[in-house]
Order: sequence, then C-alpha cells, then structure tokens
Amino acid sequence: MNAPEVWAIILAAGAGSRLRDACGMAKQYICFHGKPLYWHSARAFSHYPPISGIVFVFPPEDCERERRRIAGLAHELGLPWDIVAGGPERSVSGRNGLARVPRTCKKVLIHDAARPFVTPALIQRVLKGLDGTLAGVVPAIAVTDTIKMANAENPDLVECTLPRARLRAIQTPQAFDAETLRQAHKYGEDNEIMATDDASLLEAMGARVGMVPGEPVNIKITSPEDLHCLKDGHSDYPCSGFGYDAHRYGGNRPLKLGGITIPCDLAVHAHSDGDVALHALIDAILSCACLGDIGCHFPDKDPAFDGISSAILLDDALGMARDVGVRILQADITIVAQKPRLEAWKSHICANLARLLNLPPERINFKATTEEKMGFTGRVEGIKAYALVSAIKEG
Ligand code: MG
Repeated sequence: MNAPEVWAIILAAGAGSRLRDACGMAKQYICFHGKPLYWHSARAFSHYPPISGIVFVFPPEDCERERRRIAGLAHELGLPWDIVAGGPERSVSGRNGLARVPRTCKKVLIHDAARPFVTPALIQRVLKGLDGTLAGVVPAIAVTDTIKMANAENPDLVECTLPRARLRAIQTPQAFDAETLRQAHKYGEDNEIMATDDASLLEAMGARVGMVPGEPVNIKITSPEDLHCLKDGHSDYPCSGFGYDAHRYGGNRPLKLGGITIPCDLAVHAHSDGDVALHALIDAILSCACLGDIGCHFPDKDPAFDGISSAILLDDALGMARDVGVRILQADITIVAQKPRLEAWKSHICANLARLLNLPPERINFKATTEEKMGFTGRVEGIKAYALVSAIKEG
C-alpha cells in the first residue's frame, strides 16, 4: 500500500510590520544564505521523502513575483509546488492554502515561513504523531518563564498567574489529518474564529490534538533582535590595512612611540603628540574599515588636536572601525630610525600597544630597523613607521 499523500503549506503571507520597518521588507523575504527566508523551510520539507508537494501562501500583491523567483529555485526542491494568495488573517491564509492542496492528499503540514530552522527530524516527529487517534499534532516546548494573564480592562494590571507546569509554547510545523483540517477551517469560518494557529480550530471543534517535543532552535523570526540568529558568520571576511607615517626631528614634542615616551635628545615636529607608530597604526585600522585616513578624521589644522595624545585618536579610530563591524585581530608595526636605538624599549612598547588595542600581547609584533645611514632616517632628519593590521569584517 502506498503511503498517504502528504503536502506542506508554507504560510508566508504575513505583513511582519516590526521587521518591515527595520529591514525594509517583510520577514519571509529576508535574504539568508542567498535565499529568501521562506525557502529554507521549503528545503527542509523537500528533504523528508513522504512530502509530495508544497503550497506557498503569499500576500496577493507578491504572488507573481514569488512565482517567478520559485520557478528559478525549484530545481532544489524536486517536488510539485504551487502558489496561492493569502488573506488578511492567518486562518484565511491557511484556508486558501488548504484549498490548493490536492484532494487525494491525506495529511497536511502547516508551517510558518518565519521559522527557517525547522529540521526534517521535527517534520518526521509531528507526522509520526498522527497515529489515527489524533487529528492534529503540534510541536511543543515547556514554558520556562512565569506567564501572567493581563486584566481585560487594564492590560497593565495582573489578572492571575497561570500554572506553568501545564503551559506549552507551540511551534510549527503542525501536522493534520487533511479531512479533519478542512472541516476545522469550515467550522472556524462559520463561527468567525480568528485563530493564531491551525490546531486551535481543531480544538474549537472538539477534535483531539496531540503534542510532541518541539525544538528550541526552531525559533520564529519576529523582531529585529531575532535577526542575529540569522548571522552565522559565513558572510564575514578577513581584511587587512596598511599605514605609513613620518615625522621630522627638531620640533618640540618629546619622542613617543606606541604611547611610550622614549627618553632621548630627539624631539619631533607635530600637531598632535607626533607618535609615528600610533599614526601608522590608526591609518592601518581605518584602512581595514575603508574609512579613509587619519587626516580626514583628525585634521592637523584643528586646534582640538593640538598636542593631543595619539592614544585618544587611536581609541576613536577603533570605535569607528567597530561601528562598521571590523574586529581587529593582529597588528605588525615597524619603526625605521637611525636614532634612537629602540632595542630596550621593544617589549615595553609592544605591551602598551596590546593594551591600547585591547589585544593579547602575542597578537602584536613590534620591530625596529635602520636604513643604514641612507635617506632622511639615515641622516637622523626624522623617523618613520609602517603598520599592517589584519581584521575580520562582518559581511
Ligand atoms: Mg603623523
């Protein structure tokens, strides 16, 4: 005997206004791994062999666009599929989806497109729960919060506390005997029941609905805060930034490198404190973040930066980089100077750079070299620094 035909209905007809405001599109269309959110559920259903086909329910105005999009993706499903327009209420959308399922179909799964993490194991569990004594099976999670009911007139007032041991949070997919679900939707329509899930319609009609364990990861994307669940790091990418700076000797700023004052008879010309190592480092960090250079953020004509500690500028640059999703991993700094000799200061500077960058010292490499008396550093006319920074940028 052939297994009874099973169809899945994916409800993607909601307006999702909280997310529409935050991302400019309804949540079912949010791009995740290069595909619209609803597609991930469709893929999970296609991986479970008893599923014979899928009906997608979209807002009426989106149906044609999504039909073209699914036509381009359908090779990933390998199943018959169809699209139907939803209604203003969830129950209407479910009813319209159900009307599109073939009459030969014996079991139906109804799923919210906003739950992209549904697994074939959960699909199997709800379907297996439909054992002939139950007309519907829903995935359930025990509630861990204390749930209180608000007063009907004054919703800021507690009416009562519900006994938590018997409370369950209900997910989708929900599995149904197709004929009973059709009757339940008819019953709901006749009695104008506005249900938040399909099982409620069966309950209202007095049909038996069972529960199987849901999955905590099977969350519903509802608010902008839920979107972080969609970030899996796959779109993050490594980046690097290069920085260079030079300062002339003979000024009035005591020589500072990496935030450390180097006691010597050399001073530098500078508007800020003239820390050549930190200036090269700031440029490298700004490069990682594609934010231009030190001059555009901290102009040397601005009196606000007269004599300012470059450690403060570095902190600002790190904040700017952080704001655009850049996380610094490692820094390599090279000082080129004939004088002073920096050997004794290397570990001290390195430790201070680690502190300023908030990185472990083993992520910092600090080097110093001369140019063998060639060029302006060789003639002790000035000092220069190179910096190379590697980072991860959020995609
Ligand atoms: Mg400079």
